[in-house]
Amino acid sequence: MNKYYDYHSHSYFSGDIPAGRGSSVREMCLSAIEKGVAELAVTDHCDIDGIIDGYFKPLDHEAVLAEILAAREEFRGRLKLLHGIELGQGIHKPKEASELLEKYGYDVVLGSVHAVRGIIDFADTDLISLSKNERITLWERYLAEMLEMLEWGKFDILTHITYPKRYFLKQGITDFPDIAGRGKEYFEPIIKKVIEKGFTLECNTSGLRQIMGECLPNRELFGFYYELGGRDISFGADSHNARDIAAGFDTAAEMLKSLGFKYISVFDGRQKSRIPF
Ligand SMILES: [Zn+2]
Ligand SMILES: [Zn+2]
Repeated sequence: MNKYYDYHSHSYFSGDIPAGRGSSVREMCLSAIEKGVAELAVTDHCDIDGIIDGYFKPLDHEAVLAEILAAREEFRGRLKLLHGIELGQGIHKPKEASELLEKYGYDVVLGSVHAVRGIIDFADTDLISLSKNERITLWERYLAEMLEMLEWGKFDILTHITYPKRYFLKQGITDFPDIAGRGKEYFEPIIKKVIEKGFTLECNTSGLRQIMGECLPNRELFGFYYELGGRDISFGADSHNARDIAAGFDTAAEMLKSLGFKYISVFDGRQKSRIPF
């Protein structure tokens, strides 16, 4: 790729980054410019249910925005910097989520499912102690809530589908619901809804840096998306540190090009356009 468009990145304001770790928006911009990134969206975590219910520390929206505005000035002409947000489980607190989106406007909104009703995050869930049937039920609830979130629709990019797979694998669970064999069956309604409603499907490259060793979703599901008529994709490294910005994008681009994808979605004030990659 000549230029990178990283639409999923986290600054040190994200609630899952411990104090003293992570990167400032300025550090992220410097790294992005060095790597040849044309557009960077800062999309700090806002798992709105967890924040409102007190499980996660609140996101300091004003502080993130202040850093973004300052960096936008400093790097004008060298990097397009977008004010985004990774909105987790908007459907769990739809009123508060809508108010937040209205208040800040945003350039781009990522729609994520990190949890389903009754759990905080797959990352913090003890999956080992669940029976196989309970794990399958949890997985199916994940898919059902994703579909519900697509119906709700107050976001632009559907992020990292297959997210729980990472945590099943991390906990050494090998009898995970068989995505390879049943991926199409599981994901067909979701993919059809993404296409019907004009969402963009994210290629999240964080899996390339982790135990999964593949993008979220993987080649098989992107192939299925293409087969069903899906064309709108975005790249997101899901970096929690400046050094990971745009990581794995060449590998991901090669995979997506080989499947026939030609364009990526870019956003400005939540208006989507397509550019070749
Ligand atoms: Zn996420
Ligand atoms: Zn993220």
